[in-house]
Amino acid sequence: MPVCATSAKDAILHRPSSPATVIHEPDAGVSKTRVSVLIIGGGPHALAALSALHESSFAFGQFTSDNAFQRRVGFKNLQKIGMVGIIDPNEGFCEGWNKRFASLEIEHLRSPALAHPLAFEPMALVNFALREGREGELLAAPFVSSKLADEGFSMQDPRLYSLPSTALFRDFCASLEAKLPHEWYRGYATRVAKDGDSGEYMVSYECEGVEHCVVAEAVIFATGPTGPPIVPSPFLPFMGSTMADGVDGVPPVHGGRVTHTAELLGRGSTMADGVVGVRGARVLVVGGGLTAAQAALAAVGAGAARVVLRSRRPLQTRAYDLHDDWVDMRKTNRLRFDFLCMEDRCEGAKRAAPGGTVPASYMEELRRGAASDSSALELQVDGGIEQSAVRLERGELHVDGDAFDLVILATGAAKTPLSSRLYQQVQADFSAPVRDGFPRVDTSLRWADGEDLFVVGANAVLELGPGALNLMGAMRGAKIIAVALRDLMWTTKRDGAPSAVVNVNSFSCLGLKDAVLLGFADSSDEEDAASSSDDEQAVVGEAVRQLSSLSVRPAASKKKQEPPLSKAKAARLRARKHRRATKASKGM
Ligand SMILES: Cc1cc2nc3c(=O)[nH]c(=O)nc-3n(C[C@H](O)[C@H](O)[C@H](O)COP(=O)(O)OP(=O)(O)OC[C@H]3O[C@@H](n4cnc5c(N)ncnc54)[C@H](O)[C@@H]3O)c2cc1C
Repeated sequence: MPVCATSAKDAILHRPSSPATVIHEPDAGVSKTRVSVLIIGGGPHALAALSALHESSFAFGQFTSDNAFQRRVGFKNLQKIGMVGIIDPNEGFCEGWNKRFASLEIEHLRSPALAHPLAFEPMALVNFALREGREGELLAAPFVSSKLADEGFSMQDPRLYSLPSTALFRDFCASLEAKLPHEWYRGYATRVAKDGDSGEYMVSYECEGVEHCVVAEAVIFATGPTGPPIVPSPFLPFMGSTMADGVDGVPPVHGGRVTHTAELLGRGSTMADGVVGVRGARVLVVGGGLTAAQAALAAVGAGAARVVLRSRRPLQTRAYDLHDDWVDMRKTNRLRFDFLCMEDRCEGAKRAAPGGTVPASYMEELRRGAASDSSALELQVDGGIEQSAVRLERGELHVDGDAFDLVILATGAAKTPLSSRLYQQVQADFSAPVRDGFPRVDTSLRWADGEDLFVVGANAVLELGPGALNLMGAMRGAKIIAVALRDLMWTTKRDGAPSAVVNVNSFSCLGLKDAVLLGFADSSDEEDAASSSDDEQAVVGEAVRQLSSLSVRPAASKKKQEPPLSKAKAARLRARKHRRATKASKGM
């Protein structure tokens, strides 16, 4: 029977370092167990959802310190009513991400600086770097920027396509975590049930063997990709039984000769720390993607005597696993539209990212290492890895006759969310639709009809499309969620009642009305607007330029109200159209 968090205050983490985290002191009375929106998972996608839910008050902090912009566009009439809770077994946001990067000593992200958890502000990470005096941590990505330059796309700030350093990204996420109000419940969510009377969701979670419960009006599943690690069958007998079975979450450490990166990356300790026993060892790394390349280079760096990187096919060089067009902001909307028109979206997602690839900078490092006599690195291609002859002899693992002390499988993980008990339970109890093993979410990322249960990230691939897993997918998903859940987070002060209608466009989730944006001020703000300074005008102008870069469809109701054209104007337009048609027919 779950214990309600009111009687188990210690289930809520105390983290004084993050001022935005609600801290419940044991003697401070009854802990709050009710939140408006509960996010299951605390990775980058959860942080993106949290930031988007807070968007209305948060987005324009960068423009002005005295809230002039908020006053003039009507934010003063918005009042936050919702609190967001997070359930995650870690102690703060993105711990899993940070451990992965630390384990392989990755210095830069693979994705560009425009991708990060602040969904509505592509420039936010670049601005953070500038504010902190850390512009040097934005590594130029020559492939992408030269392509953009060729296409005359110099209007776009090229720094958006630079690669942020691991430390810069980590600190940026930490700064968001500190600013965005939320409650943190440490534990692992096990069950979602619905209270038939109130219509609220009761989410059970487990922390150190004790079950607790949080009540929420809406639940977002941001659990990250779910599924067991892929282990080529010849290696299975040499792994710990837990790894071979594959369970929810990261498998625990085992004593086998074969390990998987899913296990290695969950530890957060580097190979050089000596925990894995790489120094002086003969190491075989199996895989053809970036993680395999990074693991091989880390093993060389940690002092392995011999490192063989063996892939099924020759390594492919590409900036991202996804086709470059999917990270080109000018093309993603069209590509996504094409994707949504596909009959078999699962197949469409696979085609857009057909396999692991290695960025040019890593490829160069691998080739240099393999060519050098003094390096321990060898690159091998073996199309028959899945049929390798593997046997253990006197403590050594022999793979096709070659002796190794350690085998690292960088062979990825299956994407099978329905292998998780939590997803199975929700699917069964809420009759939530599934297609090709994935939640069949609707355009709002809502999983079950009439229920406020949402899915983001890799498990929402059927709606978010290729790249649902990565940071671009996080931004896309967070914007959609913010629109769907706006009424749980914001209300207007004027009449005290929650706004009844939510306009489904990008302005509405920023808390702006179209009319307000076009006029820069609503009627009640006219005085403010008249007396505004040039600085304020500049601030508003900058904000409007940023907003204009969002794809916005005008609200249908507004379209209806457009005044009819005057006869003279209609005649002028007809004449212009006629002149153009005549010119075109003459081939001019
Ligand atoms: C080595 C490496 C490098 C990468 N580099 C990049 C990159 O540069 N750019 C990029 O865009 N992507 C990169 N990726 C992909 C990256 O993993 C994803 O973009 C990102 O981590 C996905 O975030 P997420 O929040 O969906 O999932 P996760 O980061 O996996 O976070 C999910 C969280 O949910 C928690 N959770 C799961 N189940 C439950 C439950 N039942 N109850 C409570 N909590 C739960 C987990 O413990 C975890 O903390 C990289 C991946 C790897 C492995």
